[in-house]
Amino acid sequence: MKSEEKYDYLIVGSGLMGATFAHLATRSGKRCLVIDKRPNLGGNLYCEQVEGINVHKYGAHIFHTSNKEVWDFVNSIVEFNRYTNSPVANYKGKLYNLPFNMNTFNRLWGVTTPAEAEAKIAEQREEAIEALGGREPQNLEEQALTLVGKDIFNILIKEYTEKQWGRKCSELPAFIIKRLPVRMVFDNNYFNDRYQGIPIGGYNRLIDGLLQGTECRTGTDFFQPQYREWRKYARKLVYTGAIDEYFDYSLGQLDWRTVMFKTRVENIPNYQGNAVVNYTSHQEPYTRVIEHKHFETFGADVYVNPKTVVSEEYSTEYKPGMEPYYPVNDPRNSGLLQKYMDLAAQEENVVFAGRLAEYKYYDMAPTIERAMQLFGMEKE
Ligand SMILES: Cc1cc2nc3c(=O)[nH]c(=O)nc-3n(C[C@H](O)[C@H](O)[C@H](O)COP(=O)(O)OP(=O)(O)OC[C@H]3O[C@@H](n4cnc5c(N)ncnc54)[C@H](O)[C@@H]3O)c2cc1C
Repeated sequence: MKSEEKYDYLIVGSGLMGATFAHLATRSGKRCLVIDKRPNLGGNLYCEQVEGINVHKYGAHIFHTSNKEVWDFVNSIVEFNRYTNSPVANYKGKLYNLPFNMNTFNRLWGVTTPAEAEAKIAEQREEAIEALGGREPQNLEEQALTLVGKDIFNILIKEYTEKQWGRKCSELPAFIIKRLPVRMVFDNNYFNDRYQGIPIGGYNRLIDGLLQGTECRTGTDFFQPQYREWRKYARKLVYTGAIDEYFDYSLGQLDWRTVMFKTRVENIPNYQGNAVVNYTSHQEPYTRVIEHKHFETFGADVYVNPKTVVSEEYSTEYKPGMEPYYPVNDPRNSGLLQKYMDLAAQEENVVFAGRLAEYKYYDMAPTIERAMQLFGMEKE
């Protein structure tokens, strides 16, 4: 950084939080510098082009919201397509629609009306409640059985959840599953939100649009000595990196769960006919297979490109050096986070924002809402 330069904001991280904040600030006439340690902008939204297909390198991302302001905002940057998430579950070679709806129940039991499906679920729930003999469910398995009964649990929940958590359902706490919504309509749309889609041309266009007119430096780690002395160059710091790293892990490390991706090119135009297939049995070690072209091409257009790219997803215990994806909300980590937040509250002119700095799972739309809220507070 040149010493004569003075930015209003140094923004650490070019993910959706940093990029949205930078966009709002730059649009208001503020001078911003965005730095990111990765070679690319966009954080976990970044897509890599493989065989002409946008590959969601850090996990499949589907934008969904009921907030019209957020939907209009992202569409003012780049138009979104009509992608609707309707995942399919594969259990030992048989396919079931998700989320649990009349199509699923027809496949499971041959029922054709909501009344028949309701009766089947009620009968199986009753069975599970009776088996508990008047006591409360003690673990996730008992909890799920009392909510939806044995067939849905055994075929669509049990082994998938065990792969996700690396532990048996009977050893997982009951509170992980509070509700298991069942839909008595033929509707495979996974999200209940009013709006959903994928940016036409991919997420990189959204990030590039947000960061247009803002100075950005990739391959630049905040923890290099010159950036640590950020007060020389910027009035304020917006930090979207990990909160424990900011404080040199002085109180200990926060835990994460992560996902490993195995991505390959297939020499066929259409591998699984859907963007998302969940594998709900232990027969396959992976939890999901993503076929990326289905996020952006529909109908006959799927066949224009003779190749396709698929990614297997493996839920994995986090170790340093891996990508931290999901915070672990147990007492140890909640307590540690509180201590780091107390330290953060003492830092002057630093805004801790985003999933890493707040140690909180944020979907994309809530990330934008949070950026709007934080920037709004700057103007007060
Ligand atoms: C596997 C997965 C799937 C998801 N799928 C969906 C979905 O389908 N729909 C949805 O709405 N949301 C989804 N999300 C959530 C979405 O990814 C987040 O909402 C979004 O990434 C939050 O943006 P962020 O800027 O807070 O974090 P990030 O995207 O993680 O960005 C943080 C950035 O900070 C940079 N950084 C960190 N430390 C430093 C440092 N020391 N110096 C410089 N730079 C640094 C990082 O390199 C990174 O680029 C998913 C998340 C995951 C993990």
